[in-house]
Amino acid sequence: MNDTLEQLRNRLDDINMELLRLLNARAEVVRSIGEIKEKQGLSKFDPIRERKMLDDLVNHNPGPFKDSEIRQLFKEIFKASLNLQEEDHKPKLLVSRNKQPDDTVLDIKGTVIGGTAQVMIAGPCSVESYEQLRTVAAALKEAGVKVMRGGAFKPRTSPYDFQGLGVEGLKMLKEVGDEFGLATISEIVHPAHIDIAAEYIDIIQIGARNMQNFELLKEAGKAKVPVLLKRGIAATLEEFIHAAEYIAVSGNSRLMLIERGIRTYEKWTRNTLDISAVPILKQETHLPVLVDVTHSTGRKDILLPCAKAALAAGADGVMVEVHPDPQTALSDAAQQLDIPQFISLMKGIRESGLLKETVQK
Ligand code: PEP
Ligand code: MN
Repeated sequence: MNDTLEQLRNRLDDINMELLRLLNARAEVVRSIGEIKEKQGLSKFDPIRERKMLDDLVNHNPGPFKDSEIRQLFKEIFKASLNLQEEDHKPKLLVSRNKQPDDTVLDIKGTVIGGTAQVMIAGPCSVESYEQLRTVAAALKEAGVKVMRGGAFKPRTSPYDFQGLGVEGLKMLKEVGDEFGLATISEIVHPAHIDIAAEYIDIIQIGARNMQNFELLKEAGKAKVPVLLKRGIAATLEEFIHAAEYIAVSGNSRLMLIERGIRTYEKWTRNTLDISAVPILKQETHLPVLVDVTHSTGRKDILLPCAKAALAAGADGVMVEVHPDPQTALSDAAQQLDIPQFISLMKGIRESGLLKETVQK
């Protein structure tokens, strides 16, 4: 009796092996078909052919499997084959991890971003005056923050709101950045301003509202400075990655992504910080991924846990807005930290041990 069971089991093992061989042989044929279809521009999924194959199988089914079971089993095989064809021909984006397995690492005036190095970026929402900028720059320097942000071209909801100082603001960033030894970042909203921006600032920011401004993306792709691309207000991660691809394919590989919150029905935060975007973007792309805790939350009281969450989730950096006198700020007055609040945030982040900055050269 036991002998028979053993024999049957052995037979089953042999059949399994034979099925495995056949399934893979089938997969090879499917692959070849996929290549021909790809060349001819034909769709991989052919429902008429699939139905015919299933009908033929059922017509020749000797049992004991029921026809419905045969259909179900083969449908699974067909599905796996289709996945194989699609996977083989999925275009590899330049920004994708499967195109470049190693992390993109940027060196911005000696500050390393990406790989194992993380960065803090801080500064006012808008550049308003030399005095404002110098006060912030001094606080940043004191706190050991190496990259200063400041908007010169402000994309505002209302045309009656402060629109920024324009090129004048970029010049101020350059002067104050040089004075305090800080790298600078500022948003550019018009393709025509990319070249002039490259003269004054170290990183060009493309804002949430312009994530799919394709002409701007293409122009940023031709720029000689790194680009920080913000996630659109209602952009999916796929759209975000494709927006980054526009920049990469236009020639600029010094590229970073930043999650800045997306619009949801939640009202207690300005936007909803999508923390899951961080590990997903890190997995799907090789680019540094940062988190803007200010615009994603729109509030000052939860920045420390959000910054810690971002770093714990694998973010390569955190951006935060700081202003010497937030109440009088010309934009985003409610969400900017004052300098003592900023110092305390930095202390909290450093104490968490989650921020791994590189030593300046
Ligand atoms: C900003 O960072 O100044 C800004 C306007 O942010 P966002 O584009 O994310 O709204
Ligand atoms: Mn702002």
